[in-house]
Amino acid sequence: MPIVVQKYGGTSVSTVESREAIARNVIKAKEAGNSVLVVVSAMGRNGAPYATDTLIGLFNDVSKEENLRDLDLLMSCGETISATIMSQTIRNYGYKTMALTGFQAGIQTDERFGDANVKHVDTKRLLHLLDEDYILVVTGFQGITKAGDVTTLGRGGSDNTAALLGAALNADAVEIYTDVDGVMTADPRVVEHAKLINQISYEEIYQMAIDGAKVVDHKAVDVAKRSGVVLKVKNTFSDSQGTTIMSDSLLPPLKKDWSNVVTAVAAKKDVLQVTVFVDNHSALNEALLDGLEKEQISIDLINFLAEKKVFTIFEKDERRLKKLLDNLKLEYSILESCAKVTVIGYRIHGVPGVMKRIVLSLAKANVNILQSSDSSNTISVLVSQSDVDKTMKTLHSAFNLD
Ligand code: ADP
Ligand code: MG
Repeated sequence: MPIVVQKYGGTSVSTVESREAIARNVIKAKEAGNSVLVVVSAMGRNGAPYATDTLIGLFNDVSKEENLRDLDLLMSCGETISATIMSQTIRNYGYKTMALTGFQAGIQTDERFGDANVKHVDTKRLLHLLDEDYILVVTGFQGITKAGDVTTLGRGGSDNTAALLGAALNADAVEIYTDVDGVMTADPRVVEHAKLINQISYEEIYQMAIDGAKVVDHKAVDVAKRSGVVLKVKNTFSDSQGTTIMSDSLLPPLKKDWSNVVTAVAAKKDVLQVTVFVDNHSALNEALLDGLEKEQISIDLINFLAEKKVFTIFEKDERRLKKLLDNLKLEYSILESCAKVTVIGYRIHGVPGVMKRIVLSLAKANVNILQSSDSSNTISVLVSQSDVDKTMKTLHSAFNLD
């Protein structure tokens, strides 16, 4: 029997009604002749009683120091609750179901608590249970180390679980169900005219995910691409056909004109622009680079000039960066509350007119570009965080995506 993996995110599992909608979807796939494995996230978003952020808060209230191992054990509980409740909801319709944790589903990871990498999926038990006609409901976002400690896979980890299980089980499709119609030309909560993208290449959606479109996790896209499994993004609550993610070789030929080269706009908030005044030949330059690596501070939008180094970091790394710069007695300045807005288009690089549209449209909208950068599939601008929504809307219409 063909195997279908369906993943449901936090809002999809959060209420009785939404779980009934999931049960209907799952049963439909089962009745169509598929073996069905469901992956679930924790219920709801921050503030909901069993949401991951709520559990983290509970822990932080009592913990005086970081203990990532114990925190992972607690964080994994949100999905365990979802899986058992979802399994029972489907069972009420007369189907054989079973809830499984990441460990019970055979997902083995390394020891990187909080951001673990999956090393191996043992599918023996899953395949046996699917053969026995069970609908399986597996906790997303988690696995277990060789030593038997529970680990979590980082933000977006449930998407990753679904893609990994889909790949390991050689599934016909991995369907990511969420609370919007699929992958859109921008976050529909920011850009109201955002449109559904019916088909998109792995490269573009990967880039969108990296640049802030959180609708699907970039690691999941990577797993799907490498294993060749078809990935779909759909709405739990509507019949919209959703987005199919596929190899770029199956998509229409390359576009070559600024008016249709951009596929989507995405944004990342809570960014700081850092300028460090250090000369290329100074020993401090090397010490700075060593320190960034040692502190695991990842830098972006990097402009290394002869006499100064300009780059961005995320707000969460600010304290560690300042400590590093102060220890090295470096002269620096920091511009807080910035956001990086990116236009994404497959092979956008070198298409004449794209940068011109960005600069002119933003100037007209009174948005100040603080910095810019490009890659083969993207052009990014750094703007003040207060301008982020305006920037997204402006670029979205400048490239005819409305
Ligand atoms: P889930 O809990 O189902 O995993 P997420 O919150 O992780 O859901 O992702 C879905 C959200 O992603 C949507 O509600 C939407 O606001 C946001 N989003 C950001 N960019 C996009 C985009 N380009 N297309 C669709 N949704 C997007
Ligand atoms: Mg998500």
